[in-house]
Amino acid sequence: MTTTHILGYPRIGPQRELKFALENFWQGKSSASELQATAAQLRAANWAKQRDAGLRFAAVGDFALYDHLLDTAALLGALPARFGFDARTLGLEQYFALARGNAAQPAMEMTKWFDTNYHYLVPELDSASTFDGGFDALFDRVREAQEAGHAPKPVLIGPLTFLWLSKSHQPGFDRLSLAPALSRAYARVLARLAELGVEWVQLDEPALTLDLDTSWRDLLPTLYAALPAQAGALRPKLLLSTYFESISFAPATLAGLPVDGVHFDLVRAPQQIDLWREALPPQWVLSAGIIDGRNVWRSDLAAALRVLRPLHAALGERLWIAPSCSLLHVPVSLAAEHGAGARLNPEVRPWLAFAEEKLEELRVLATALDQGEDAVRDALRANAEALASRRNCPRVTLPQVRRRVEALSEADARRSAPYAQRIAAQHARLNLPPLPTTTIGSFPQTAEIRAARAAWRRGELRHTDYLQKMREEIAAVIRKQEDIDLDVLVHGEAERNDMVEFFGEQLWGYTFSAGGWVQSYGSRCVKPPIIWGDVWRPEPMTVDTARHAQALTPRPVKGMLTGPITLLQWSFVRDDLPRDQVALQLALAVRDEVSDLQNAGIAIIQIDEPAFREGLPLKRDNWPQYLSWAVRAFGVSAGVARDDTQIHTHMCYSEFNDILPSIAAMDADVITIETSRSNMELLDGFGAFAYPNDIGPGVYDIHSPRVPSAADMARLLRRAAQLIAPERLWVNPDCGLKTRAWPETEAALRHMVQAARDLRHEL
Ligand code: GLN
Ligand code: ZN
Repeated sequence: MTTTHILGYPRIGPQRELKFALENFWQGKSSASELQATAAQLRAANWAKQRDAGLRFAAVGDFALYDHLLDTAALLGALPARFGFDARTLGLEQYFALARGNAAQPAMEMTKWFDTNYHYLVPELDSASTFDGGFDALFDRVREAQEAGHAPKPVLIGPLTFLWLSKSHQPGFDRLSLAPALSRAYARVLARLAELGVEWVQLDEPALTLDLDTSWRDLLPTLYAALPAQAGALRPKLLLSTYFESISFAPATLAGLPVDGVHFDLVRAPQQIDLWREALPPQWVLSAGIIDGRNVWRSDLAAALRVLRPLHAALGERLWIAPSCSLLHVPVSLAAEHGAGARLNPEVRPWLAFAEEKLEELRVLATALDQGEDAVRDALRANAEALASRRNCPRVTLPQVRRRVEALSEADARRSAPYAQRIAAQHARLNLPPLPTTTIGSFPQTAEIRAARAAWRRGELRHTDYLQKMREEIAAVIRKQEDIDLDVLVHGEAERNDMVEFFGEQLWGYTFSAGGWVQSYGSRCVKPPIIWGDVWRPEPMTVDTARHAQALTPRPVKGMLTGPITLLQWSFVRDDLPRDQVALQLALAVRDEVSDLQNAGIAIIQIDEPAFREGLPLKRDNWPQYLSWAVRAFGVSAGVARDDTQIHTHMCYSEFNDILPSIAAMDADVITIETSRSNMELLDGFGAFAYPNDIGPGVYDIHSPRVPSAADMARLLRRAAQLIAPERLWVNPDCGLKTRAWPETEAALRHMVQAARDLRHEL
């Protein structure tokens, strides 16, 4: 029988049960045992779903109360030394202290898991890291699954990926030197799993798909050689699992590793199967990741069977089938998208498959391979019909959008005059002081704003009353900014729940789920919109609000838009059109908005692109292509602006140094970036590169309620002025202020304005 399995399942629960259980526990509203009971129920339910879908194994270790990288570090006994915790006796309070910080220590650093929107906690290693025994939870989970009658397949981050993703802050220390001790720790864990009767362990090694340098490449055989061989000490069979890209190692290199099978992502990198068909070692299993674990579309089962049948014929029982990667990255179930409260476009719903539905797809594929297609005739027919209805839906393709994209010229993607000429026209029109002060767009989303929006969504507040409330809020923030004496104002984004959803709701081609939550980190989830058809802007989206805000003050108020790459990156994107084409469609929608705003008299328009860097492909070879279309899409959005319309963009949480030519090619008149946490270090690159246009390096960190002094900010500005010509410098916070409260916001902005005034005298 064909083995079906998954690399991991969403842990948050169909109704975000884990999120609420965590938050109640953190707020002291529930006990540790209540939290653990919820977690156990979620695991039991996830395993039952896997069994019901006929999967051979129940994935264990994919569940984590906060993060599975943290769990792996705890299992290995490699906790950050600065906390002073013993991994062997790690309690719940300590576990969450690592994840969220405590009075003595800031939390472990958090960063994005490869090119996903999941954030893991970065393990911290130093020369004293010993890996000499850790937290036993994984073994308990194995027993828990066995007691419930499942065959557990533990899922662990593999040693190479673990080491690669770790960091060391110890000067002169090379974490590669920890490889031998790390391998021994893995060997011990594997031996214990074997004692528990575990047959297979999945070692996740997505780092094998990156461009690793020689020292890292050479490390792979070393790390694995130390894992006891099957014949010697007790050890389960090992499935080396890779995903998100093609493996960067030749089959012959991997073939020498003491593992028993390999998993490929055949959605992102289907071509690699040709290489491996011949080269697969004779005893290995091949796990084909044939169902998209990164997106929400129903699989084309007939196409999948065309790939799988020859593999099945050649490999027999050695063929396993699975989703391409862990299902952590897709929502749990479409069940919430029916009936009362459903928001999803009903025409689109049959085209989708969330995690639960993907399990069913696996079952159908395996049955078709083992028993022939007749055994699942109805399911295959339903699948083909859903796909045909998507393909033939006349609302997916809009000829007027296709024609506009095709007709785009190089000139459309550029401003008509160079920066020097534009900035002169803008100075003449805007008449701003040197070191102009501004903010990034959002002001605190108060409880009142949120309550009004919730009431409006429930239909309890009339639409016009809601608009009136938002207008009053805008008037209040305009008055506040005038009082603080900022130079360039914003309307505050009170009317926006989310910077993508707000625009998506006003565009053709988007739909929204009611419960399609995906874990971002810890208890935080996001609900990405779904782009299913050609994108088209039927009418202005922000012009009325911008006009209202501008009418309240003689100072310029920035029009505020989300850029095409961020609209793309933070959505589930259709898989029937190349991403660059979707980006251009989005760019045209933004372009039309820019045009309408400037015709309404708005002199400054900000096109936010915080996700610009996130879109970079995992392999460097693919960077130039992405950067070229991403820059073009931004250019199309901004290109319609007249010389004296000032285009701003904003990016945050980014390293920029390796993509500065592309940032410069975007040619925004002003870019605001996050720099305060790096003490302006991020700006060094802009200085060295001689970045040509205006820059606003953030002078204070908006992630903390701390109010920096005017002197703190003046010090950062002085540093900035050494790197960037002062006449091209702006003064602003790192990012939007929507998560802050008013008292600290107002105090910090007053200090910021003071710092700008002080510097104007000095420079
Ligand atoms: N304009 C947005 C805001 O101020 C930008 C948010 C972001 O960069 N993520 O909230
Ligand atoms: Zn930002």
